Amino acid sequence: MGKEIIFMPKTILITGAAGFLGSHLCDRFIGEGFNVIGMDNYITGDPDNIRHLLSRPKFKFIEHDVTNYISISEKIDYVLHFASPASPIDYLKIPIHTLKVSSIGCHNLLGLAKSKNARVLIASTSEIYGNPLEHPQKENYFGNVNTIGPRGVYDEAKRFQEALTMAYHRFHGVETRIARIFNTYGPRMRLNDGRVIPTFMGQALRHEALSVFGDGSQTRSFCYVDDLIEGIYKLLFSDYVLPVNLGNPDEINILDFANEIISLTNLDLSIQYKPLPEEDPLERQPDISLAKKVLNWQPIIKRDKGILKTFEYFKALPKAKLLKVENKDFSKHIKS
Ligand code: UDP
Repeated sequence: MGKEIIFMPKTILITGAAGFLGSHLCDRFIGEGFNVIGMDNYITGDPDNIRHLLSRPKFKFIEHDVTNYISISEKIDYVLHFASPASPIDYLKIPIHTLKVSSIGCHNLLGLAKSKNARVLIASTSEIYGNPLEHPQKENYFGNVNTIGPRGVYDEAKRFQEALTMAYHRFHGVETRIARIFNTYGPRMRLNDGRVIPTFMGQALRHEALSVFGDGSQTRSFCYVDDLIEGIYKLLFSDYVLPVNLGNPDEINILDFANEIISLTNLDLSIQYKPLPEEDPLERQPDISLAKKVLNWQPIIKRDKGILKTFEYFKALPKAKLLKVENKDFSKHIKS
């Protein structure tokens, strides 16, 4: 009889597990047979996003703020750092915590990974390009960020996070990966987080006018969540250490996007113009030639399909959630 080879399941720690991307990553890695440890302090995450996982033997949840020391007894093979507020209105309400989660929090996770000999992938962002002077944005563009602007707390923390991650790689030999994530959307976004897609969906479902900021000529390029998760998965298991853009290059301006939502939902909605927030980037589009080359990855879900799937999700939410205007109390989570 031949020898039986027993494969031990690998364990992955996912921070921000109750958030939009974190919860989809938990689903994906459980589906792939991993033991998943999810960590979140629920500051912007939602317990509903992971409720379906709590009874799964392969899932363990730890309520913890990653800016505090992280102690885990199990062996850990991989770490995904996805904890962070991710919406401009959150940065304004919790600026110091936004800075801490990608600096002190990331430091804690890199230290944990070093001690466990684990590979780390950090969620970086297109925001590190700021209001870009190059279009589309390639990984070798250094960006145009105002350190002291309203978004500076997020952008600079993410830039610091990239620097810290590369330092851990170069100085300590930790295996690291950096994903620069462009606007991503899909089920489990927070309905009232102020970002354009959940905002338009909530307004459509309440039959309100869609709020277009400025004249709506600013552009974004929206990637459906399933495509993004596939890109993260491929990046984690690739050999590529430097940052990789992950996003969908299909660019659209916000006014055209509002009209697209109106036609896709088949609702008779008007548009209400509102002031453009300070330092709202004028254009944003990923150049994904690197991801195509090193990961053999590109998004495959067209915007109309993704938007309809997302709309179905928001439509199915309990009425109470839909009608409630969020007034999230962040104070119980943070000291600063
Ligand atoms: N936006 C808008 N109406 C809204 C919310 C956002 O016109 O109700 C615009 C916003 O000014 C920005 C774009 O949509 O130009 C994307 O905003 P979001 O907050 O989703 O993401 P980010 O600015 O971080 O890309």
